[in-house]
Amino acid sequence: MRLILLGVPGSGKGTQGAILSSQWQIPHISTGEILRQAIANQTALGLKAKAYVEKSELVPDYLIFDLIRQRLTAPSTQRGWILDGFPGNLSQAQFLDQLLATLGQSYNRVFSFYVPTDVLVQRWRQRGRSDDHPELICKRIEVYQEQTAPVIQHYRQQGCLTVINGDRPVEIVTHFLQTSFSDLSLTIQQKTVNTSKRLINQEPQILSD
Ligand code: AMP
Repeated sequence: MRLILLGVPGSGKGTQGAILSSQWQIPHISTGEILRQAIANQTALGLKAKAYVEKSELVPDYLIFDLIRQRLTAPSTQRGWILDGFPGNLSQAQFLDQLLATLGQSYNRVFSFYVPTDVLVQRWRQRGRSDDHPELICKRIEVYQEQTAPVIQHYRQQGCLTVINGDRPVEIVTHFLQTSFSDLSLTIQQKTVNTSKRLINQEPQILSD
């Protein structure tokens, strides 16, 4: 399974990426999380990325390209992966298309998480991460609208985008992700079908496809 999760901070893509990664036993590759760890460990990547992450700006593409190339060619990602926060701009999306073509791979689906602004504001207040100050959040939203929105358009044009309503309980969004795109998830779904029967009746809405 190869999935791309896109969404503004607080949209729930990180939470869902972690849940599906543990259920499917495939790596959850969150560029934001990898960069925060690299900064904490003061690695070469961390030292180069620090100033950008602290300002909530995208770090330069060449740093991200190296990171993604390393991860997607590693043995641990041969069975699949979940990308979270990548691609962050159009040139990253083009890089990914080329890299996957070289590897003879493709992604199953791209999900863009939509959450109304008032709900996002509440979630940011609750998270309390160091880069969740109002100014930095505004900056990340601005960067998202300017640089990541064209990525969504790119995948929409390729016909592989699903916009998902992220303003739902976590387990409903998970269920939607598990069932919305591929027969590959059916075996996993079977294990949870008894406990999630109630949720099936409340199928989340696909905002667009
Ligand atoms: P996030 O955890 O997705 O909110 O990302 C936190 C920070 O990591 C962002 O504000 C950027 O500085 C950096 N970052 C995350 N993903 C990317 C990416 N794909 N390209 C460049 N910088 C990124």
